[in-house]
Amino acid sequence: MAKVLVIGAGGVSSVCVHKMAMNPEIFSDIHLASRTLAKCDAIAASVKERTGVAVATYQVDAEDVPALTALIERIGPKLVVNLALPYQDLPIMDACLAAGVDYLDTANYEPKDEAKFEYSWQWAYQDRFREKGLMALLGSGFDPGVTSVFAMWLKKHKLKTIRLLDILDCNGGDHGQAFATNFNPEINIREVTAPARHWAGGEWVETPAMSIRQSFEFEGVGPKNMYLMYHEELESLAKFLPELERGRFWMTFGDAYIQHLTVLQNVGMTRIDPVIYNGQEIVPLQFLAAVLPKPETLGPTTKGKTNIGDIATGEALDGSGEKTFYIYNICDHEDAFHETGNQAISYTTGVPAMIGAAMMLTGAWRGEGVFNMEQMDPDPFMAMLNTQGLPWQVKELPGPVEF
Ligand code: NDP
Repeated sequence: MAKVLVIGAGGVSSVCVHKMAMNPEIFSDIHLASRTLAKCDAIAASVKERTGVAVATYQVDAEDVPALTALIERIGPKLVVNLALPYQDLPIMDACLAAGVDYLDTANYEPKDEAKFEYSWQWAYQDRFREKGLMALLGSGFDPGVTSVFAMWLKKHKLKTIRLLDILDCNGGDHGQAFATNFNPEINIREVTAPARHWAGGEWVETPAMSIRQSFEFEGVGPKNMYLMYHEELESLAKFLPELERGRFWMTFGDAYIQHLTVLQNVGMTRIDPVIYNGQEIVPLQFLAAVLPKPETLGPTTKGKTNIGDIATGEALDGSGEKTFYIYNICDHEDAFHETGNQAISYTTGVPAMIGAAMMLTGAWRGEGVFNMEQMDPDPFMAMLNTQGLPWQVKELPGPVEF
């Protein structure tokens, strides 16, 4: 039984708050704050209609640390769940430290003027959280989040070491739009246009964005082209799996998505540096995000499934030599929409955010300082995935992936 404050009112927040309301024995008092009060109120109205649970709402600019600290102190939650944008991670961590409250997020900090993903900024908060006896849990979404928990579950139950790891993120959903992103367009486009990086032989290997492509047959979806990308969990996995020889991340994109993105890039619409337009500074990518369909509006039309998982190869725990396992979840866009009013990309992020929060509030996961998902016992989290709408499967493959 605990009071929680969620910050941000987009698709991920909507799913998370609905799922919290469906688990009142853990989340007995839910508060929701964001930049636009109307969005908080719309989520609260949907939660009330679907579950009967009342959610209190507030307007706040999360980058205004004194205002956010005052709001946290006024509400007095046990945990702040940050589902705003990566830009707000550090101010929200600062406000949690000032107010003496635990913290959780789903994406690592990124400065607005530099498309750069790394944990260093948040890992630097380690001593401040530890000294205050507080816990910060980083990256409790699907990827990052579940993909790291999957790897650690395999390491606990199947493999003594993980030598090769491939994370495969497939969205087989069709939203019926010519071009739209399934989560925040600005963050999504910054991520996919950044150079690809993978871990090999103890160092990062960089290749041009979208230059390495592989076809893969995804259960529940069919064959899809996936592209090598950099994704933030590779950094924490390389740190917490020191034996890792090669770690890669792949994401599927349809040809139409790639064509649109190529044109947008070629004409300069994905630039993140300001340009002067009619005497006013605008950032082209922010303007593009403003005209693209809002991810939270895609729910009613999106059909199909996602399939996200890890393929890991290493020495078997039972001493039977080298083995390869594939562990994954399949999520249906229409089922996700039916349950929470949001499509599966928001669902596969919002549910693990709720589970991470449940781990912290029930004491199943506890620590003082800043933690990544890899540092926690995977078992209670994996058990909740099965009961909260993201059931997973594991199967042995004949050998390591051959791409
Ligand atoms: P949205 O853009 O839909 O929602 C973000 C919300 O944050 C909006 O309500 C926005 O307010 C609010 N916000 C932005 N700036 C501020 C501010 N200064 N103060 C208060 N609130 C603010 O994003 P998503 O729901 O798609 O994504 C949420 C988070 O989840 C992102 O960090 C994203 O990177 C992460 N994510 C993680 C994934 C994973 O698997 N780990 C996968 C997908 C997303 P407003 O409504 O006014 O714009």
